[in-house]
Amino acid sequence: MSADEMLAQIAKEVSTCQKCALYRSRKLSVPGEGPVNSEVMFIGEGPGFHENEQGRPFVGAAGNILNELLTEAGLKRNEVWIGNVVKCRPPGNRDPLPEELAACDQYLERQIAAINPKIIIALGRFSMGKYMPGAKISNVHGQMRRVGDRFVIAMFHPAAPLHQAALKPTILKDFAQLPKLLEQVRNSQNHSAPGEAVEPPDDAQQLVLF
Ligand code: URA
Ligand code: SF4
Repeated sequence: MSADEMLAQIAKEVSTCQKCALYRSRKLSVPGEGPVNSEVMFIGEGPGFHENEQGRPFVGAAGNILNELLTEAGLKRNEVWIGNVVKCRPPGNRDPLPEELAACDQYLERQIAAINPKIIIALGRFSMGKYMPGAKISNVHGQMRRVGDRFVIAMFHPAAPLHQAALKPTILKDFAQLPKLLEQVRNSQNHSAPGEAVEPPDDAQQLVLF
């Protein structure tokens, strides 16, 4: 199956999924959207009212702010992947429950595997919690961390400045750093691009290395 087919297959499964209680109150599930070759994946929390109506991520008030932040980062919305840790709207926009996050995680994991992004941007604390359990967003926001074989940056959620206007300049500043961080990752990966043959060390070197 190609990566594109993988994403389509996941979207299809999500549309009829009943693996957690959130399916009961959803209108449309929101699998996420973006090109399969996206270098950057933005992972938010879960659909809100408008997302549930339209089946698309970040199309309400938080989406307007995300669009603004993407512009700040020099990124076009149609060249990045945007999704969420849960694909169905929690009733009344309540926080997703641990069992809902756990049930939905397999879809996100498969999406990440299909896209294989250079950087994952965790938007908000639920998405951050997947990669940096126990971290405080106020401490780690904007910093790039290596988590396993992935580069992850946690950012304040785009809806945060709607409640706390003072956060807006901080978020804008964090997003403005993205081009530089992306360039760093691109450079670090140039040494061994995926699929590129890496010269095997000769026997003498192997002795030293292992
Ligand atoms: N907030 C999110 O976390 N995700 C959306 O898709 C919309 C709002
Ligand atoms: Fe399935 Fe995820 Fe929707 Fe729960 S939130 S019903 S696990 S797609």
